[in-house]
Amino acid sequence: MCPIKGQFMAQKIWLNGKLVNPKDAKITVFDHGLLYGDGVFEGIRVYSGTVFELDAHITRLYESAKAIRLRISVSQARLARAVRETVKVNRVKDGYVRLVVTRGVGTLGLNPLVCKKSSIVIIAGSIQLYPKVLYERGMKVTSATTVRNHPLAIPPQVKSLNYLNNILAKIEALDSNVSEAVMYNHEGYVAEATGDNVFIVKKGVIYTPPDEAGALGGITRSIVIKLAQKENLQVVEKNLTRFDLYVSDEFFLTGTAAEVIGIVEIDGRTIGKGRPGPITSLLRRRFFEYAHGKEK
Ligand code: PMP
Repeated sequence: MCPIKGQFMAQKIWLNGKLVNPKDAKITVFDHGLLYGDGVFEGIRVYSGTVFELDAHITRLYESAKAIRLRISVSQARLARAVRETVKVNRVKDGYVRLVVTRGVGTLGLNPLVCKKSSIVIIAGSIQLYPKVLYERGMKVTSATTVRNHPLAIPPQVKSLNYLNNILAKIEALDSNVSEAVMYNHEGYVAEATGDNVFIVKKGVIYTPPDEAGALGGITRSIVIKLAQKENLQVVEKNLTRFDLYVSDEFFLTGTAAEVIGIVEIDGRTIGKGRPGPITSLLRRRFFEYAHGKEK
């Protein structure tokens, strides 16, 4: 799912250490985040006023940055505090935070070493999920012909500001009148959806592609795996083919914005009975309880 649907209603944006009005939240055109998509980001949920899994998001952000040799100019603890401050100032109870770190201001050349200081932006606002009916009845997806970035080119574990690969697949989904597309890697195995991780259920066992298949290590994914195991459900990480998706009993996606959403059709093939299956519905419920009940 595209991480954000709907409008941000932020009153204050955190920009390089200051809370500023949206009209003053400006970044120069010489920022390499704009010129080259050189940067990293996180999308984070707020449930009942608590920033959800903030530590995990901060860890992933700093690991993404390290992998691309981007030095974030503040400490992890300072950035985590800044996220909480921004949420509080904007009185966000149930919403979404976008945390962006760019390489910073440079020249028109590629050279990232001339960018002396990263630029950091935190936007806290509202989020609009997929329509409720899609969660109840399930969603349709398509298989993208756009191949997921080769892991030796850009590691998919890096949540970088360059989402063109995913955007091209998203266009394919929208052209097919569906909301999401499944992306396959260079070997033809399932990688992930454009903004979500993929799971299927076959004969009571849950399968999901390993990160090495070309997926971002989803934070929702890892929570859902733990919740499934708590229900004594077996979860197996293994390469999945398009055929595996077609003949699955259940199929669902996980992500910060989408949470857990059932898929009922792919490329014109109906999944299971054509509505979200029992394991999908159970895990969706358990995820909701976890997100709303846990103070972390
Ligand atoms: N894959 C991609 C490409 C993503 O952008 C995202 C986040 N929207 C996910 C998977 C899901 O990750 P998470 O559960 O951490 O949001």
